[in-house]
Amino acid sequence: MIIQPYSPEESINRLFLTEKLREIFFLEIKWNNPVPVPKESYDRGRGQFLGSYFLRDLLRFKEDRSIVLGIVSHDLYEPDLNFIFGIASYYTKTAVISTYRLHNRFYGFQENFDVFMDRVVKESVHEIGHTLGLGHCDNPQCVMYFSNSIVDTDRKSYYFCSRCYTKVKKAIGL
Ligand SMILES: [Zn+2]
Ligand SMILES: [Zn+2]
Repeated sequence: MIIQPYSPEESINRLFLTEKLREIFFLEIKWNNPVPVPKESYDRGRGQFLGSYFLRDLLRFKEDRSIVLGIVSHDLYEPDLNFIFGIASYYTKTAVISTYRLHNRFYGFQENFDVFMDRVVKESVHEIGHTLGLGHCDNPQCVMYFSNSIVDTDRKSYYFCSRCYTKVKKAIGL
């Protein structure tokens, strides 16, 4: 799996994210150097970046059949949604998450780096789950539960429920 940060790069605990992804997916994780955010993805009127634009942009960094996960510090949107935490494609095996709304400070609370990193892991695992063909799960503790708000994200864990994890293992050939 390749992780592709976009600049300005979010200061995240790379080791923590790498270890969690390795523990869950048993895949080698390679970090690329940050690249500039594609200007074409910016919507001036909304002041946000188009999430699905990144799914195509990330194809540039693909090696063989690897999954590519982009990390963006800007706010992302899709046309019918006010914002998105992330987006992924099963077909291109690319995914992107935005860290913009994962900070406590975004909601007017005291910043907490551990809470922030838990959210980064949850959103990353969730979007990678989509690249493996998983849909949303109705178990609120499962990482594939759809997060409408940060409350949903905080309630769930960064692990798959047993039903979803069976699908993950099948998808990665375990
Ligand atoms: Zn989802
Ligand atoms: Zn599940």
